[in-house]
Amino acid sequence: MEDALSHPAPTVSEKAISATASIFGLAADDAKSLGSERDLAFLLLSDKQPVAVMKVSNAMQDVALLDLEAGAACHIAAVDSGLPVALPMKAPGSSNHLRYQYKSDSGELYWIRCYPVMPGAVRELEDGKLSDTLLRNWGSASARVGRALRSYGDPLAHTKVTPWDSQHALLMRPLLVHVTEERGMRALCAGILAYFEVQVKPRLPNLRHQVVHGDLNLGNVLVTDEDISGIIDFGDMSFTALAVDIASMLCAIGAAHVSEFVSAGGEGTVGGELMRMGRVLLDGYQSITPLEEKELAMLPDLWMVRTCIEIVCSAWRVGTGLETAERCGPEQPFFEAAMRTLHSLGPAKRCLGLLSAIDVAGDAAANGAPVSTTELAARREQCIGPASEPLSYGSEPLRVSHASGCWITDTSGRKFLDCYNNVPCVGHAHPRVAQAIARQAAKANVNMRYLHPLAITLAERIKETLPGELDTVFFCNSGSEANDLAWRMATSITGQRGALCTTHAYHGISEATIALSPETAAECGHLPAHVERWHPPDAYRGTGNDDISFKAAIERLAGKGLRPAMCILDGVMQSDGVLQLEPEYVQSIAKVCKESGALWCADEVQGGHGRVGSHLWSFQKFGIVPDFVTMGKPMGNGHPVACCVTSRAIAAKFVAKEGVWFSTFGGNPVSCAAAHAVLDVLQDESVLPRVERAGAALRTNVREALLKYDCVGEVRGRGLAIGIEIVTDSVTKAPDAKLCTAIKDGLKKRGVLVGTTGPHCNVIKVRPPLAFSEKEVPIFVDAIVGAVEEACSAPSARI
Ligand code: PMP
Repeated sequence: MEDALSHPAPTVSEKAISATASIFGLAADDAKSLGSERDLAFLLLSDKQPVAVMKVSNAMQDVALLDLEAGAACHIAAVDSGLPVALPMKAPGSSNHLRYQYKSDSGELYWIRCYPVMPGAVRELEDGKLSDTLLRNWGSASARVGRALRSYGDPLAHTKVTPWDSQHALLMRPLLVHVTEERGMRALCAGILAYFEVQVKPRLPNLRHQVVHGDLNLGNVLVTDEDISGIIDFGDMSFTALAVDIASMLCAIGAAHVSEFVSAGGEGTVGGELMRMGRVLLDGYQSITPLEEKELAMLPDLWMVRTCIEIVCSAWRVGTGLETAERCGPEQPFFEAAMRTLHSLGPAKRCLGLLSAIDVAGDAAANGAPVSTTELAARREQCIGPASEPLSYGSEPLRVSHASGCWITDTSGRKFLDCYNNVPCVGHAHPRVAQAIARQAAKANVNMRYLHPLAITLAERIKETLPGELDTVFFCNSGSEANDLAWRMATSITGQRGALCTTHAYHGISEATIALSPETAAECGHLPAHVERWHPPDAYRGTGNDDISFKAAIERLAGKGLRPAMCILDGVMQSDGVLQLEPEYVQSIAKVCKESGALWCADEVQGGHGRVGSHLWSFQKFGIVPDFVTMGKPMGNGHPVACCVTSRAIAAKFVAKEGVWFSTFGGNPVSCAAAHAVLDVLQDESVLPRVERAGAALRTNVREALLKYDCVGEVRGRGLAIGIEIVTDSVTKAPDAKLCTAIKDGLKKRGVLVGTTGPHCNVIKVRPPLAFSEKEVPIFVDAIVGAVEEACSAPSARI
C-alpha cells in the first residue's frame, strides 16, 4: 500500500495556501478548506469569489503517482473531450508545469496542484437518493471515463496498490481489529473477506482489466441539476477489473440510496431500492459499454466486497487517527445497512436483484435457490397450460441452460446433440447473429414507415437468391403470417376460394393457415370445406407417384363449386413424414395447378435457408418457379422474422385491391440484422456444401448401422432434412408409432434430441441445426443403434 495512506494529512493554513496562488498565475486573497482524506483541498477565493481549487498532497506522496493521475486526466480529456474532467493547471513558476513543491512551517514537503473551479456541486449523503436521470448519467459518465482510460497504459498503474481496489480486498484482514465487534460487524466483515477469498478472487482474472478511475463516489463527481458537470480526483486509480470500478460506484451511490430508509429506522426495507438503484445505474453504464456475462455475474459480489472495504478502511483510518470520527462516522450506518442487505440476500438473490430475471435464467425461487423442474413445469401449467403445446419428453422435460452450435446444455450441465431444431439454422447462439441483434437493438429499432437500409438491403439480398420474377418482398414475423399473406393475395387476385395442401401438411396457426394444416386441423376434425388434400408420393410403399391424387383434389373442390386459389407445398415434407419428392412429380402437379388458375406457394419455412444442401431454397431442386415463396423460422436463427416474396404484378394488384400492407414489426432493423447475419454465415461458413456432406454421411451410416433391424423401414431425405420410418415389419410395412416414440425417448436417454412426424407418427424426424457436421454423425449413429436395439428388445414397445 502507498505510504501516503498511512501518513497524516498535511497541515497547511488557509492563509499560506492563498499565498501560493501566484505560482499558478492566479490572484487570491483567501482560501477555504474543503477537507480531504490523505491530502488537503482548498477553494481559493478572490474577493469572496472562487478562483481555483488547490490540492495539497500528503508528505509521503509518491510524486510519480501524482503524475500518473495528471496523465490520466489529460488522456481522458484528449480522448473524450466532452467529459468534464478536472485538469491540473500549469504552474509557470515551477520546474514541473503541473505541480509545485511547497515547504510547510514544520519542514514537510508537499506538492501543490491547482485545478479550475468546475460548475455544479457535489452531492452529500444526506441529500438522499439520486434521481433516475442522474443515476443513468452517472453510470454513463463512469463508462465514458472507463472507455477513455482503456488506452491509458502507464505501467505505474499496474503496480499501484490501493486498499479500495477490491482485487486487494484481503489487505483488509489485518485491519479488521479496528472494526467494532458490536452488532457482529467484525465477524460479518471477516466472513465477507473469507467469501471473497474463495468465491470471488479466483474468478477475477477472467474479467477485463484496465486502468480505472476507481472512485466515482459522491465526493468526486460534480452535479448540475441532473447532469454530471465535473469529474475530479484520480487518486484511487489503478489497474484492475472494470467490474471493480463499477462496484465502487454502486457502493458509494448505494449508501446514498439507503440513507433515507436508515435515517427513518427502516433498514429492513432497503433491499428493493438498493437493487433498483443498481439496475438503473447499470442501464446508464451499459448504454456506453455493454458488460460481459462474467462481469455482470460478479458485480453483485464485488459490490458487497467493496462496501465491506469501505467500512474496514474507515474503521482503520479513524482507529489510527488518520481521520476523524466526525468526518467518517455519520456515513457508516448507511454503508453498514447496504452491506448487511447485500450479504443477507445471499449470492443468488443478489444476482437476481441486480441483474433482473433474464440474466440469471429467471428461474430462481423467492429465496434465490433454483426452482425444481417439477415446480417449474407445474407453474408452466398454471400460467400457460393449454396455451402452448405440452412439453417434449413428458415428465422428464429438457430444462435448457444454454446452447451452442448443435449442442444444448441442460441445467444439470448435461449436453445433448440437437438433431431436432431447425430454427437455430446456423447453430445455437451463433455469435454473429447474437451480436448483430444486440448491436442493432442498442442502436435503433423502428417500423418500416421510416427509411432504414437494413430491410431494403435484406430484400435485395433475398431477391438475388430467387428467380427474377420474384422481386417484391413483404416482411412479417412468422411463417404463419407469411403463408397467411400468400393466401390473402392468392384469393384476392384469382377471385377463387379453394385451397390445396398435402395430406398431413402444416402451414401455420392463423385462421387461414390452420385451415391449410391438416396435421393439426384434421386431427381435430376441423378441416374446412374449401381445403382439399392430395396424397404425396410414398416411394417406400410405391404409391402416388403421379398427379392423380392432385387432380382428384381439384375435382372434389369443383364438386363443392370451388376453384383453387392456391396450392401450398413444404418442399421437404416435414409434417408428411419427410417424404422425398422428385422434380418430375412436382413439375407435373405445378402444371396442373397453373391450369386450374391457382397460384403456387413454396413454403420454405422448413426447406429453406440451405436445409436441402444442394440449393438455398427447396423449390429450386424441383425446377419450378412459384408465385409465392414464404420464409420463416431459420431466417433469423431464432429471432422472429419472416417474409413472403412474390412478383411485382401480384403485389401491385393485391395492394390496389386490398389497401396497404403494414406489419408493425415486419422489416424492423433488429430482425433484419439477424436475417442478414444468417445469410452472411451461410456464405462464410460454406454451410450448404457441409449440409450435403453431413446429410449424405448421416443417411448412409444410419442405413448401414440399422440394416439388420426389421423395424427400420426407410432412411430418406435431402440435406439435413432426414426421416427414419419405423414399421412393425418389413413385409407389411405397417407404421409403428409406439416403437418410434420409444426410439425417440431412447435417443434422449443417450443424449440426442429428435422428433417424430408423419400421418402415423412413425417417422423419426432428424432435422438438426445446420451447424451439424460429419463430426457428429458417429455420435448420432451410436445413439440410434442403442436406442433401436433397446426399443426392439423391450416387449411393451411393440404391442
Ligand atoms: N410452414 C411450415 C412448413 C412450418 O413448418 C411452420 C412451423 N412449423 C410454419 C409454416 C409456421 O411457422 P410459424 O410457427 O413461424 O408461424
